[in-house]
Amino acid sequence: MRDTVFYPAQDDMRERMASLRRLLNSLHTPYGAGDSVAVKVHWGERGNTSFLPPDYAREIVHWLHDCGMKPFVFDTTVLYSGGRRTASDSLKTAKDHGYSEAFLGCPIVIGDGHDGRDVIDIDAKFKHFDTVQVTRQVEAADGFLIFSHFKGHMAAGFGGAIKNISMGFASRAQKQRMHSDVHPVLQKGKCTMCGLCVDVCPTGAAHFPEGSDYPEYDRDLCIGCAQCIGLCPEVALKILWETDATVFQEKLVETTAAVWKRIKEKTLLVNALFTITTDCDCWPGHNPVIAPDMGFVGGYNPVHVDRESLNRIGEDVFTTAHPAVPWRRQFDYWTEIGIGE
Ligand code: SF4
Ligand code: SF4
Repeated sequence: MRDTVFYPAQDDMRERMASLRRLLNSLHTPYGAGDSVAVKVHWGERGNTSFLPPDYAREIVHWLHDCGMKPFVFDTTVLYSGGRRTASDSLKTAKDHGYSEAFLGCPIVIGDGHDGRDVIDIDAKFKHFDTVQVTRQVEAADGFLIFSHFKGHMAAGFGGAIKNISMGFASRAQKQRMHSDVHPVLQKGKCTMCGLCVDVCPTGAAHFPEGSDYPEYDRDLCIGCAQCIGLCPEVALKILWETDATVFQEKLVETTAAVWKRIKEKTLLVNALFTITTDCDCWPGHNPVIAPDMGFVGGYNPVHVDRESLNRIGEDVFTTAHPAVPWRRQFDYWTEIGIGE
């Protein structure tokens, strides 16, 4: 049994669906007859234009039905304001992006519940986290299929299966714990005092103190979402990459690893290498495409499918897009903490 598989597909959607179906048929399914299978998807932030259309998720759902499973799709709510902060907002955004139960043919579930509290703490016992807090689906579902849009990411360098399990399963509090070492640092010489960072800050951490022309960032309120950093038109905000950014990679991996230990015997993974953009689908607006469409990578291990995806696209693409992000630390740290290859 090969560990990862690649099925190419270009522009035509019918070709893509056929390619995805061939990939799924090539995998050894770890599910039992009648299992409930949680399909982890990301339907994109409100205003984002590069999220994956729902057709792929529907094909996966149909395939699971054909295999005798009971699939449902899920995602969790996010920290920042926008179209996915609450369960009702997120479901509306899903619907606006075509992710409806009628189209998909299965239930859509908000993994952390309508109030964000349908979560559990599971053992991690790593350097940063003794436990991690994640969706209760980790113990509720019989099996998982992690379907990830592979693209760039402002803080993680790239976003694929590792991040989809980590941030994607995490409670809002766990998301904050992972992000909290990323803080904006103002370079006053570049700042035009336009106020955009204050406008987009979801927590009020970015503000103009009385009597100051320049914005400041309250560390107690900052959740490290990096929206201010990403949207500042002058690139006047920098991240302390040498320290905090490395810790972020490790925290990301620790959360993935804690979940993975729970679900690895009953999980398949598929990365979609289409609309490969600079940043993730959490960003409102248009993200530049940085690599051509390629196809699907599938397999049984999040590190392997992400590594294969990076190899296919070319590591340089992500190094160029995010030169200061130490994203390779994710792979090294996965090995260091003993999850194994
Ligand atoms: S968005 Fe950038 S340029 Fe505008 S006030 Fe904030 S830091 Fe300054
Ligand atoms: S990273 Fe910026 S936008 Fe995000 S919470 Fe902190 S100050 Fe606000």
